[in-house]
Amino acid sequence: MGQGTTTASAVGRRSRRSTGWAQAVDRVVTSVAARAIGGACADLMDLLLPSLCAVCTRPPGTLCRDCEPRLRAALLHPYRAEEGAAALPLLGQDLLPLPVVATAPYRNEVAAALLAFKDHGRTGLSVVLRPALHRAMVAAEQLVPGVIGGDPRGRWPRVLLVPMPGRAAGFRRRGYDPLAELLAGPLPHGWELRPGLLAPRRSPPQGIVALLRSGGTGRASHSGATVSGRRRQGQGRFRPTRAAIQLSSDSRAAPVPPIVLVDDVMTTGSTLAAAVQALASTGLVPVGAVVLAAVSPPADQDERQSDRT
Ligand SMILES: [Zn+2]
Repeated sequence: MGQGTTTASAVGRRSRRSTGWAQAVDRVVTSVAARAIGGACADLMDLLLPSLCAVCTRPPGTLCRDCEPRLRAALLHPYRAEEGAAALPLLGQDLLPLPVVATAPYRNEVAAALLAFKDHGRTGLSVVLRPALHRAMVAAEQLVPGVIGGDPRGRWPRVLLVPMPGRAAGFRRRGYDPLAELLAGPLPHGWELRPGLLAPRRSPPQGIVALLRSGGTGRASHSGATVSGRRRQGQGRFRPTRAAIQLSSDSRAAPVPPIVLVDDVMTTGSTLAAAVQALASTGLVPVGAVVLAAVSPPADQDERQSDRT
């Protein structure tokens, strides 16, 4: 898509064409058929390549007898994970970071398993990882006070769970969308998956590229110029879809249930910040986020490999 001076109507046409193209890609990537094909490829990889433990790489099986209990134990205690996520958006009058509940810190068995699950086709690990993500969702009802805790079912029949959109390039490379794998099947009571509210922009703003090249991490605190720079760099990575705009306009007739974002790994929080920014541009403001794992300071080297692409 070319750059340069053009009329407003041409911009409008171009924008509509671009939006239509992106939505078509989204539909293909997230369609049941595409997921089935991707899943089948991944399962085949899992079958052909490794019968090695995804954590320690010793035989036999997806997880060996030593690593499986350690991984399961590491995923048992969800916690509030904003600390160290320097790029999380600041919300409300008190400018507090978006509440995030993680199932586990991104390290040791959890990091190895997630890396294998996300980048090496080890989709069999979803048997362990999916219930862990569900635990984070249930824990979020208690750990995010005044937002979705308290009496959410009294006021709201459900919570809308909004996944970070996967990139088509990542899907082509892997053959599956790791987050979609984690969200497949029934969710905990009261949680409704609401995909399709966010879409990736075709090319990330230069700030994102610069951040990735500089190996930006979540080591900094929630103050200072570097932090606000990171927060800005997350902006513009996603755009709200027509469905998000529709949901927002529906909210004039009836209040929209609480929106909670979901991702597999949180590093600096810039992905969640981009999602909040895109939704907020339509008037929808998420109340929190759940992630499977969060990179805690001191940051782990593996975090850069695990960031969503
Ligand atoms: Zn092992």
